[in-house]
Amino acid sequence: MKPIAQLPDGLINQIKAGEVVERPAAAIKELVENALDAGAREIVVELSQGGLSRIVVRDDGSGIGAGELPLALARHATSKISSLDELEVVETLGFRGEALASILAVSRLTLTTRTAGSPHAWRVGGESAWNGKAPVPAAAAPGTTVEVDDLFFSTPARRKFMKSAGTELRHAQAAITRLALATPAVRFSLSHEGRTLIDAPPASEGEGLRARIAALCGKEFLDNAVWHEAEAAGLSLKGFIALPSFSRSSTDLQFLTVNGRPVRDKLLGAAIRRAYADALHSTRYPAYVLALTLDAAAVDVNVHPQKTEVRFRSSAGVHDFVFGCLHRWLRDVRPEPGLHHAAGFAVDQAGPFAASQQAAMRYSIPAFASSRVTENRLPTWLNLADQARQAAAGASPEPEAATAPSEHPLGYAIAQLHGVFILAQNAQGLMVVDAHAAHERVIYERYKAELASGGVPSQSLVTAITVQVGEAAAALAEAQADALALAGLTLTRAGPGSVTVRAAPALLPTSAVADLLAEVLDKSEASGTHSHLGEVLDAQHRILANMACKAAIKANRSLSLAEMNALLRDMERTELAGQCNHGRPTWVQIGLAELDRLFLRGR
Ligand code: ADP
Ligand code: MG
Repeated sequence: MKPIAQLPDGLINQIKAGEVVERPAAAIKELVENALDAGAREIVVELSQGGLSRIVVRDDGSGIGAGELPLALARHATSKISSLDELEVVETLGFRGEALASILAVSRLTLTTRTAGSPHAWRVGGESAWNGKAPVPAAAAPGTTVEVDDLFFSTPARRKFMKSAGTELRHAQAAITRLALATPAVRFSLSHEGRTLIDAPPASEGEGLRARIAALCGKEFLDNAVWHEAEAAGLSLKGFIALPSFSRSSTDLQFLTVNGRPVRDKLLGAAIRRAYADALHSTRYPAYVLALTLDAAAVDVNVHPQKTEVRFRSSAGVHDFVFGCLHRWLRDVRPEPGLHHAAGFAVDQAGPFAASQQAAMRYSIPAFASSRVTENRLPTWLNLADQARQAAAGASPEPEAATAPSEHPLGYAIAQLHGVFILAQNAQGLMVVDAHAAHERVIYERYKAELASGGVPSQSLVTAITVQVGEAAAALAEAQADALALAGLTLTRAGPGSVTVRAAPALLPTSAVADLLAEVLDKSEASGTHSHLGEVLDAQHRILANMACKAAIKANRSLSLAEMNALLRDMERTELAGQCNHGRPTWVQIGLAELDRLFLRGR
């Protein structure tokens, strides 16, 4: 062992840089954050080799006074906070004063800056061997330009860990997208080897904002997303959430800010995921662009080297608020063919539904809109929903073919195809419905409503059914007898490894009881104990989802027109009816224009 010695400053900086500047995208993120903190209205990023050989970040912000330049580059020097009290309510993106020092320690850095009052700019770094030397005058517009060449040239070990330029570029683009989504009032552009990749004009609302989101997240996302906002108890949440039928194979379209700071928060991520769980296969990820705002003093932003995580003073309250909003918003989604642009079924390539994409891509699914959407299509849908509800309640007779087909968004059944699909006609054209998937959702939601209002109605079995389930599962069934009873399954332990079912949900075919029980117990066992109320509910929902699948119409059962129409009307009234329990769409709209195109009519 060597004697203990203080490390030289340069080495401290290089070690510290390892945490802050993990890859080019991290350096770019810090430089763009500085530009935003400086009040920039426009930020231009230029890269070479994914940022490995060159990064330029140019802004039109406040600039840095010549006298302060050496400090800006020193470690632990910041203009953003000056006391611990200020750290508690920090509203800037930066606050530790270590980014520039860190980047400087592992690259060749040049900084050119000019304040509004200065007759010319000042430059440090680059040619003017700037270690300790004074800045030199330079020509530049007000604002700051940071050039970072040969990142990690001084730390070859880190350089070796870099991926290909393409991978680094993807990370850089994601980092810039994240910040651009967080600050809609600022123009962003990104170019790589001279080619423009992002050009996002400033826009904080309306069509401009939609165009900006489309430029940053893709048009498919926007076409399949709905705007929402909510406020309660000092918390505000707003943004675009994608419909469950637009799911992803990764978290690439999940954007969340907390008080304007892009974060990846586990707590909030889990709350959102849970809200989608009912409508999404467990291997798929929801897409969203959301902004959470709350009192700055209720958030600790100083918990992560790259400041991408935060801690909430009242994490349970924040979790419940976000979960509650998403849960409600997703429930509000109703079919609304034709009122939204018909969007391509935009599930991405990988994942369990790749096979269904091909068929769906050729047509389009009707998009949905929420009853809380702040656009003028709102009243149309509300009226339709009310009519459907009134019809169901017997307030007015069920409209028949005398009525115009546009009365119901899902239209009127005209035939059943191959025992699987319902073909229906609506004002927009042809509607193709997957009868099993749709019926499954309708029953599932009905079960859940029943569960919430005191339990699923069950029916005594004429002959009790005894099922061999294994010892552990039998014990679990006994322990969970109350939860199972609420879900409509009344059972008792029959022996060490068997249970006897005496009553089952009225809608469930008797032949499916044994199967269902085995599956439910198997899954509950795998997921461990149900200590939390939420988990008990999740488990019950799993039971109900399973029951719904078993109770739903099977393929090859021929349906009468009346039965098909009844299902269509049920779907219109049912929450989340646009997708089955796994997020697959339950119907596809083939518009008249599309049919015209297929037959080359009108050319
Ligand atoms: P921090 O952002 O945490 O304060 P940095 O090392 O990123 O630390 O920056 C140090 C200081 O340099 C900032 O506090 C700010 O005063 C100044 N600065 C850095 N970049 C810019 C910029 N683009 N425009 C104006 N000032 C800047
Ligand atoms: Mg900074």
